Amino acid sequence: MSTSKIRIKKICEFCGKEFFAQKMTTRYCSKTCSSRAYKYQLRVQRIERTKTDVKVAIDTKPLNDIRHKAFLPVQETGVLIGVTTRSVYNLIYAGALKATKLSSRMTPIRRSDVEAMLDNNPYTKRYKREPAPITEFYTNDELREKFGVSLSWIFKVGKTENIPKVMRRGKTLWSKRHFDAVFARQQPDESITEWYTAEEMRQKFGMTSSAVYSFVYTYGIPKKRSETKSSTRSGTSMQPKGWSFRQNRNTIPPLRQWNGTV
Ligand SMILES: [Zn+2]
Repeated sequence: MSTSKIRIKKICEFCGKEFFAQKMTTRYCSKTCSSRAYKYQLRVQRIERTKTDVKVAIDTKPLNDIRHKAFLPVQETGVLIGVTTRSVYNLIYAGALKATKLSSRMTPIRRSDVEAMLDNNPYTKRYKREPAPITEFYTNDELREKFGVSLSWIFKVGKTENIPKVMRRGKTLWSKRHFDAVFARQQPDESITEWYTAEEMRQKFGMTSSAVYSFVYTYGIPKKRSETKSSTRSGTSMQPKGWSFRQNRNTIPPLRQWNGTV
């Protein structure tokens, strides 16, 4: 007596024959196919297990061999501590690991030296180095005097370069070390020997002051402040005094700024 009138056409997963199943979950055409499939499954699992066991044995064999050697070549030293051969050489070059060079191909390493290296370099937490305390400062006036910069320049650079500052008696004091570093970075290349002053550029190329400065800025032309300070202060010009610009072909302005007289 059939428990169900449903007949589902399926394909046996073992023999590939078409058959009619009464349940969706039926996978095989017969009891024989079902038991054969089960046995096959067991066999596959057994083979997989053996493969894994063999692989583990092969992988650990060198390590087992190495563990019993008193001297190790560089490559095996790497296997022992789990790093590349290159890394072992780096340790040797850095003086962390003792090795003996017997020939270009023989560099035996004592296992005890490997262990000594590991013992002598315990992992320690790294602490941030305390920054050296700031003891020397520039006042705004000192900065203006020494470097010929404007007050607004000082505050702008102080902000963008994050230069430490303190207030003393209503005066701003800037870290000398930090500002010196900024100026050192701004020093032009010493190989540049020929310079135009801004005035010379105006004369030679018929440029206006602002044209000179925007040109120099646009093309990143090296500039420096002249040693000699001008004694007269122009009340009308807002341009900083005493800048010179690198003199070479690159300083020739593009045609649109060229007035034809050289
Ligand atoms: Zn079958």
